[in-house]
Amino acid sequence: MGSVIDYIECPHCKSEAYSDYYYKTGEEYINCQNCGYHYSVTYKCDEDGKYITKDGTDKLDFSNLIVEITEVKNPYGSYHAQVIGDMGSLFGSVRTAEEREELKAQALSNEYDLEYLGISRYVDDEIVVEDIINREEDYNKYVEMASQLEEPDNLS
Ligand SMILES: [Zn+2]
Repeated sequence: MGSVIDYIECPHCKSEAYSDYYYKTGEEYINCQNCGYHYSVTYKCDEDGKYITKDGTDKLDFSNLIVEITEVKNPYGSYHAQVIGDMGSLFGSVRTAEEREELKAQALSNEYDLEYLGISRYVDDEIVVEDIINREEDYNKYVEMASQLEEPDNLS
């Protein structure tokens, strides 16, 4: 999909936010990994991910699609998750304090092998990062232990 990725000033915390614009469809996503600000322009879809048209037909003309604008103006924060052994990071918006509690409970239930889970928030003109799970140190220790075990013994 053709998209233009750009960095812009976050309207909420004024730090760097990430904008992803799909020039073929006009869809746009703005996400801030520092405060959780989210803005998106998309077309309305049904539960199966199919576009809903204005006239109810299958005519997928842009003028026949329903534009949906979502904005999280005052987010609680942004989560940052790192799965053990995975190079990539996951980021997302946390809208409310309740959402944060859900996320934390999920993460601590060990359903996911998370190496790191943190929440970055914009509080009193500052970006504050709270670590919820930080197994990076444990993981490094484990890797070190494992490598020692694999070393050949010098019994000969
Ligand atoms: Zn922001």
